Amino acid sequence: MLHTLNLRLAPDDIAYIVNHAADRFLIVDDVLLPLFERFRHQTKIERVFVVPLTRADRSAEQAHSADGVGDYEDYEAFLRTAEGRFRPPEIREEDPAGMCYTSGTTGRPKGVVYSHRALVIHTLVQAMPDALNISHRDTTTPVVPMFHANGWGIPYVSTLVGAKQVFPGPHLDPESLLDLFVEERVTFTAGVPTIWLGIAQALARSPERWPLHNIRMGVGGAAVPPDLIRTLEQFGCQVMHAWGMTETSPLGSVSVPKRYMTDLSDGELHRLKATQGVAAPFVEMRLMREEGLAPWDGVTMGEVQVRGPWIAGAYHNLPASSDHFTSDGWLRTGDIGTIDEEGYLRITDRMKDLIKSGGEWISSIDLENALMGHPAVAEAAVIAIPDPKWQERPLAVVVVKPGHSVTPEELLGHLAPHFPKWYLPDHVVFVEEIPRTSTGKFMKSALRERFRGMGRP
Ligand code: ADP
Repeated sequence: MLHTLNLRLAPDDIAYIVNHAADRFLIVDDVLLPLFERFRHQTKIERVFVVPLTRADRSAEQAHSADGVGDYEDYEAFLRTAEGRFRPPEIREEDPAGMCYTSGTTGRPKGVVYSHRALVIHTLVQAMPDALNISHRDTTTPVVPMFHANGWGIPYVSTLVGAKQVFPGPHLDPESLLDLFVEERVTFTAGVPTIWLGIAQALARSPERWPLHNIRMGVGGAAVPPDLIRTLEQFGCQVMHAWGMTETSPLGSVSVPKRYMTDLSDGELHRLKATQGVAAPFVEMRLMREEGLAPWDGVTMGEVQVRGPWIAGAYHNLPASSDHFTSDGWLRTGDIGTIDEEGYLRITDRMKDLIKSGGEWISSIDLENALMGHPAVAEAAVIAIPDPKWQERPLAVVVVKPGHSVTPEELLGHLAPHFPKWYLPDHVVFVEEIPRTSTGKFMKSALRERFRGMGRP
């Protein structure tokens, strides 16, 4: 059973996860051995197989740590010991194939086990033309860590269809990624919006440098602002917005315009592409409110619940909890959204990121998307701060693009035509950068902590 570990967590947390999953064998790049040594003594890892990176990429110190110490085994040499002798074990479809842990943005990390059946069906659906549309003609580059929800499934689907796979390694800055896309003629890539925000800025700085020719970009993990889609398209990229989570293997929905949606204006098309899309085949989706099922009218918000062949029904080694699964077998995603008559899901927030102001819900994602549509704004996150009268009020945290300047008043003026007055943030603060989670999303919990004092408790 393959368990990909989140190497960006603190060593203590990695040790917790290794122990909770009862991991026995570790396969590791030599450059990561110093990290492993920091928590090894807290685990019961039995054997360690080391994959050496090319010499050119290794500093002397890293080379030493890989070669030096006694009980590491060479990964390639280990594989050779099986030559001519390996017999695949008998596997039933329900047997576990792999597992991932949630990154713990919302509490202690929880493990999700994927069966062979779940991963195979998920992979077949991902390859479909109206899903990721990946075939043997593609060259795929996930800009997604392998520990993040099965590397979003891209290694599995690429292997199934025989696509060429190119991995970016540790070089994740926009210029290196763009160079790689061009050099390797990448046709499909995927990552969280913060990656594409950086890419869009690099493309805007040097529009001629990287000819991208219709590269398909899967964007997910957090909401993608419509303006980002527009900008990337200007530079020859096709954006495919998808929604999912560790618990959903992860494909839940993809936003593809339907074939009869031919008379949409440019703005409508980008707004449609910025929705989280329609449920993937075999994924059932519903919106639940306290009083029962919410209608699919594009306005009524409810909690998104899903079930299907690759949707988790429990967490590994944790008692079933009604916080996460309903008694009739649906996964409670913790996401709030609407679904319209055509079946397009629009996530307005995570339950814990919602801003509850005077009994009304303010969507942080809607405000962020609008702020990131301002030409001077590179990044924006909107969070709740405490308020004695309204319970919570929105505060906007903004990173200004290099070489631009903008005032809070100008930004509020930019938002005003699109929102009711009570929706507008009470404060706009400017920061150098927005902290990221281990999977590259905006870390709103850190912002709430930092700016709590600006509220009035
Ligand atoms: P973590 O909880 O650490 O972020 P996941 O990557 O499994 O771990 O997160 C899944 C969550 O990410 C979803 O529940 C949702 O809140 C958010 N998410 C994923 N894709 C999208 C998307 N396309 N738009 C908005 N939110 C998204």
